[in-house]
Amino acid sequence: MTIQGKMTEKEFKLEPDCELRFEVEGKKETVDLKLLSGKAEVFGTELAPDKPYTFFSGAKAAVYTWHGCTLKLTGNTEGTYIAKETPMVMYLNTHACLERLRKHADEGLNRGEDTRGPVTMIVGPGDVGKSTLCRILLNYAVRMGRRPIFVDLDVGQGSIAIPGTIGAILVERAASVGEGFSQEAPLVYNFGHLVPLANLTFYNILVSRMAATVQDKMVGNRKAASGVIINTCGWVKDEGYKSLTHVAQAFEVDVIIVLDQERLYNELVRDIPFIKIVFLPKSGGVVERTPPMRISARDDRIREYYYGLHTKYHPHSFEVKMSHLTIYKIGAPALPDSCMPADMKVDDHMTKLVPVEPGVKLKHHMLAVSLATEPKDLLTSNVAGFICVLDVDDENKMVKVLSPQPKPLPKTILILTEIQFMDSN
Ligand code: ATP
Repeated sequence: MTIQGKMTEKEFKLEPDCELRFEVEGKKETVDLKLLSGKAEVFGTELAPDKPYTFFSGAKAAVYTWHGCTLKLTGNTEGTYIAKETPMVMYLNTHACLERLRKHADEGLNRGEDTRGPVTMIVGPGDVGKSTLCRILLNYAVRMGRRPIFVDLDVGQGSIAIPGTIGAILVERAASVGEGFSQEAPLVYNFGHLVPLANLTFYNILVSRMAATVQDKMVGNRKAASGVIINTCGWVKDEGYKSLTHVAQAFEVDVIIVLDQERLYNELVRDIPFIKIVFLPKSGGVVERTPPMRISARDDRIREYYYGLHTKYHPHSFEVKMSHLTIYKIGAPALPDSCMPADMKVDDHMTKLVPVEPGVKLKHHMLAVSLATEPKDLLTSNVAGFICVLDVDDENKMVKVLSPQPKPLPKTILILTEIQFMDSN
């Protein structure tokens, strides 16, 4: 090990089928990774030789090699070790099975049949590496020349857009090592809560809507052979389990990959016998996140939405007259049974549009900018983006917002979300 100034430099020699795992410690730390010899990949993205890849504070990464390599890390890392046991061979075999299904779809499309590649859903409890496995499988597909669709239904983290949303992107390039997949033209639906249970009726409506849109995009499209990879929430019990079966049904899923939990695997085999269900172990490298770590990861995600990873974007903050804002909230508090009109169901409350008067209670809340022009379309319209309420001046009836776009705000309807963000930039 060499110390340059205050910077630590260390080289690692990896045998075939091993991975180097590390975390970036400290608030403002960065760590540079370089491939000195051989071949290696980070969650399925191949590394170029001698190129520095920067990892930022909080990053938890693994550099895997199929044939052996030498790596250099520069900077302060935590919990750094070489693991000899990884599930990567099993993950690669799973990719090979999906690729066979894609070839089948190709043959069908060549014969003029209306077919599509595998729709694969990844399920499992929290912190088992679901998002990471999605990334690995998507990267392997792209490296074979495929263009899969990635759907993220995990409202807790929201890797597309911000937490509280579900989203889809067409993956045309392997993920960047430090920044993940490119997010050009994402399709985003606003849910507005961090857990599906907060409004399961609405969550299921959005899942069905997303499934219909993704299916429409695939019809008659050559890219359809590449299929879809769906990431789900780590909520797998009771209502959460039901919600997973709803996802499987709505997307007409072909393959469900269950990570880590045999009980969930057995329940799914019992309840959905006509879908291929595969059990895969989780990687020993997956890092468990404490509740404060999850909160901070969500904040980082919203900060990244506005400012980009290395503060490469410059969002706009400006004042808007309260009278120019049309805001709704989705879902009304449930009435006690005795007060419910006879013809009204509980579900009606969950999808009810409630007009919101702008006021101090909006401070720090994220508002979704809907693409709906009429309130009746609010529930199932996708969103253009998000603004954050920085301040409310009740006296002068003005609201100060943070927006990715310069003023004026488009003349659209805004949806109040439960997601909050304190802008410290
Ligand atoms: P959630 O409960 O939020 O749904 P998840 O099951 O999707 O979590 P991931 O987000 O994929 O889990 O992984 C959790 C963390 O572990 C991430 O920060 C990821 O970078 C890290 N991680 C995953 N695999 C490895 C590995 N093999 N070595 C080191 N870190 C890893």
